[in-house]
Amino acid sequence: MLVDTHCHLFFDELKNDIDGVLSRANELGVTKIICVGTDITDSIKSYKLAKKYNNIYSTAGIHPHDVEAVEGDYINELRNLLLNEKVVAVGEIGLDYYRNISKPISQKIMFKEQIELAQKINKPIVFHNREADEDIINILSDFQGLEGVAHCFSSTYRTAMELIEMGFYISFSGNLTFKNSHLPEVAKKLPLDRLLVETDSPFLSPVPFRGRTNEPGRTRYVAEKLSEIFNFDINDIASITTANAKRLFNIS
Ligand SMILES: [Zn+2]
Ligand SMILES: [Zn+2]
Repeated sequence: MLVDTHCHLFFDELKNDIDGVLSRANELGVTKIICVGTDITDSIKSYKLAKKYNNIYSTAGIHPHDVEAVEGDYINELRNLLLNEKVVAVGEIGLDYYRNISKPISQKIMFKEQIELAQKINKPIVFHNREADEDIINILSDFQGLEGVAHCFSSTYRTAMELIEMGFYISFSGNLTFKNSHLPEVAKKLPLDRLLVETDSPFLSPVPFRGRTNEPGRTRYVAEKLSEIFNFDINDIASITTANAKRLFNIS
């Protein structure tokens, strides 16, 4: 079995065909799915899916793109969602200096506030990082005993190892399969017991579906790419990454 540790099922393309999405995932061996919130509304939608479907879990958090649109006591709203057992992490949070949809200063403030929440309630974080390696590492190193995952990893080997040494996991998505990607070279030097797989669907469809709506079942193609990189049997990659996901997100 495989776990899609990061997808966004609340987008219409997926939400309108949720039973189809789940049954195709099941056929490809993807039997657990973590639906990641990006603002309060979508974190609530994610929790509703987690409540309805046994094999779906959710997270609650404000994505760096969305931080400037947030109003009111958002931390309290997130905390209330996170009281539920099936809401397994704070996320997705982080920094995105590639698109800079929200100002870096606002991104940093809310990244820190949400990390503090995670620390208080003792749940892991799911973080997004685009072109913000230095600030991500600096902010994370101010906190002790944090657990979490660098989702959709797209950075350098050095950054990956720094994060791993701080205790974090690295999650690969469909971009691991893209032609000319530097990521296979990064992945092959990393310890397997720190790696996770995800789709980030509906985005980032892996080869051979590139450019089309992505869905959780395609975690399989990311895992297959890892099995090629490590020269490991796909079943071993599946059991190792699944054990990693269960350990991090505290799911059975
Ligand atoms: Zn992201
Ligand atoms: Zn995402």
